Amino acid sequence: QVNVRLTGCLGFCEIEPMVIIAPQKECESSTFASKECESSTFASNVLYQKVTPEDVRPIISDTIQQQQIIERLLYVEPLTKEKKVGKADVSFYQKQYRLVSGLNEYLNPRRIEDYIAIGGYSALAKVLDSLSPEEVIEAIKASGLRGRGGGGFPTGRKWETCRKAESEDGVRYIICNADEGDPGAYMDRSVLEGNPHSVLEGMIIASYAVGSHEGYVYVRAEYPLAVEHLNLALAQAENYGLLGHNILGSGHDFSIHVAKGAGAFVCGESTALMASLEGRVGRPRAKYVHTVERGLWNKPSCLNNVETFANVPRILEKGVDCFRQIGTEGSKGTKIFSLVGKIHNTGLVEVPMGISLREIIFELGGGIPKGKKFKAVQTGGPSGGCLPEKLLDLHVDFDELSKAGSMMGSGGMIVMDEDTCMVDVARYFLNFLKGESCGKCVPCREGVRRMLQILERICHGQGQEEDLATLEELGEYLKDSALCALGTTAANPVLSTLTYFRDEYLTHIREKY
Ligand code: SF4
Repeated sequence: QVNVRLTGCLGFCEIEPMVIIAPQKECESSTFASKECESSTFASNVLYQKVTPEDVRPIISDTIQQQQIIERLLYVEPLTKEKKVGKADVSFYQKQYRLVSGLNEYLNPRRIEDYIAIGGYSALAKVLDSLSPEEVIEAIKASGLRGRGGGGFPTGRKWETCRKAESEDGVRYIICNADEGDPGAYMDRSVLEGNPHSVLEGMIIASYAVGSHEGYVYVRAEYPLAVEHLNLALAQAENYGLLGHNILGSGHDFSIHVAKGAGAFVCGESTALMASLEGRVGRPRAKYVHTVERGLWNKPSCLNNVETFANVPRILEKGVDCFRQIGTEGSKGTKIFSLVGKIHNTGLVEVPMGISLREIIFELGGGIPKGKKFKAVQTGGPSGGCLPEKLLDLHVDFDELSKAGSMMGSGGMIVMDEDTCMVDVARYFLNFLKGESCGKCVPCREGVRRMLQILERICHGQGQEEDLATLEELGEYLKDSALCALGTTAANPVLSTLTYFRDEYLTHIREKY
């Protein structure tokens, strides 16, 4: 007997459509509830890559009925050319720790029953049954979880501030930021499409901790499948008494609305997102009062991103100590990155914090295609920095990346090879940010534009050496004076390429090309 069912994304985009054949006994023991501190992988499964409809019959007759491996469908490691049979043998997965994204493999995202069957909503039940809101906040604080949306702010502290913030009528909001707009990044989309209930469960737990009865998911309209799965999950959770009035008989009420963002990158910024939710133009405001104190409709509002909420049930279910064992001193847990660009194994990887860039790019990613040399990796989305080869052994966490002039951001990781012009890369990202700048404050509106003009001149062979000092001066000015994070980080691609690839700017200028 063969069960056929839909799953979420398994991360390895390069070899999709992919089929994993698992013996029944392995399937039965695959509940994450039964496993300790480790991601779930089957030692004895079979993984086939780039499967077509014509391959289905031979897969059933040869592999499933006669246990014969079909060699031509096996995955071949790009560097060693070795053929791999099982998922656990494939280097793309070997150093991953798929704490959040690994569950995609075991459930149909359209069925709440699948999520419940592997232990889903048990963290919520435990919280409502045996923990006070303060104890939940203490647990999240003790876990060391930091916001996965880019800022890296400690999640437990944010929840605590929101709970304590004054609200005359007691109204507080929980908001999930699913406005993932970075070019090349699709981590949140994958979580929402593949396991929407994990995000809802995290939000419901947050609502109990913070004392909120209403929440929003602000999701990109360009993610139609994520929106569909989210709406389906909401309806199912309501049917199961997990949302709405008197959740699981606890007396706690909480409902969630879905709001679709209209594609402005700046609406990922907290104040702009909340303005957009209120039906106003999505423009940031100065944060002299933080949104945890006065956010949506001037009420205390707790905004976390998709991946942050999806971590919450896992932490409470596995235990804080278990979560704290993963990662570095200042950055606990795992992080999902979208590994794209000039790399063999394009896909989503979830790795423990502290892993090196070299391990991600050359072991999980399989290195650079066509025998080319690695030149740089850009982390953190369009406002991240470009890091050179000499920093490949840098340990990836919030603090190390910012020390190197880049940032974690939401988790985009774009790899560039020896053919990439780094001045052109800086120009590309600045052009993107110029288009997305809301124009409210002068430093960003004018500064980004001026920097782009200079970069365009340099790229057309009309630059001068003094231009580099002007770029640096404008970049520092932007960092110090722009109103929101889009502006304060906009110069990162230029400043980091000036630091690590200055010779490329000088070549453009001196050789006039
Ligand atoms: Fe708008 Fe840029 Fe100013 Fe942010 S920094 S408020 S995006 S103009």
